[in-house]
Amino acid sequence: MPLVSLPSYPSTTRTIFHKNSVACLRDEREEESTKPYLARGSRAPRCHYCRVIESHCLCRWRPKVETRSGVCLIMTKKEVFKPSNTGWLIADVVQDNHAFVWSRTEVDEKLIALLNDPQWQPYLVFPGEYVAAERVTDTVTVDPNKRPLFVLIDATWTEARKIFRKSAYFDSIPILSLIPEKLSRYKLRRSTRSEHLCTAEVAALCFDLAGDIEAGSALSCYFDVFSQHYLGAKNQLPLDLLSDAHQELKGYLE
Ligand SMILES: [Zn+2]
Repeated sequence: MPLVSLPSYPSTTRTIFHKNSVACLRDEREEESTKPYLARGSRAPRCHYCRVIESHCLCRWRPKVETRSGVCLIMTKKEVFKPSNTGWLIADVVQDNHAFVWSRTEVDEKLIALLNDPQWQPYLVFPGEYVAAERVTDTVTVDPNKRPLFVLIDATWTEARKIFRKSAYFDSIPILSLIPEKLSRYKLRRSTRSEHLCTAEVAALCFDLAGDIEAGSALSCYFDVFSQHYLGAKNQLPLDLLSDAHQELKGYLE
């Protein structure tokens, strides 16, 4: 993956890191597109590397952790461009990150190759109630010679169901269903306000299940910090760099 050297923003330490797979998709799609994508809301310039409005740039808060798990994001084109998309955050944290734009009519051979790569043991993360019981598991048990690959559909719920139904290549992959008890424990711990977890929160739970505890915690903290930067920028509020989330995330920076 291409290396990105960050320009030095005020309050940003110069960092060199890999451009994540979602950023690569965005840049490819942007080049293909004839009309530029305009993010709704603020016209303030966004940082090209973290998508947050520059005054609230997140770049120096990107955690660095070792992960055994890999991640494969299946996205809609719209999601790739959304500044609020949280699949991006997962791809920032997990070194082995892959992202694909889903298409009903075309099958991406690279996706099929990834799913069939013998080093990976894929799990498709989806609610168990929509799938035949024999395909569903709530634990992650990985063959000693393999590493877990979490396939996450990063889209609205309506789109996710459609993607699930219309992608025959998922039929042979076991479904990892996060049980409600785990979800509510997570919500209590993180005091998540929303009824539904976002993709980054779901991924953090998957990493916990796979024993990738550090990755799970780093991603949860990173998501909290992202939310503070994103909402701070949106509401034009100053950043509180001493917030609990920032302090906790510091432990995962280089
Ligand atoms: Zn940035």
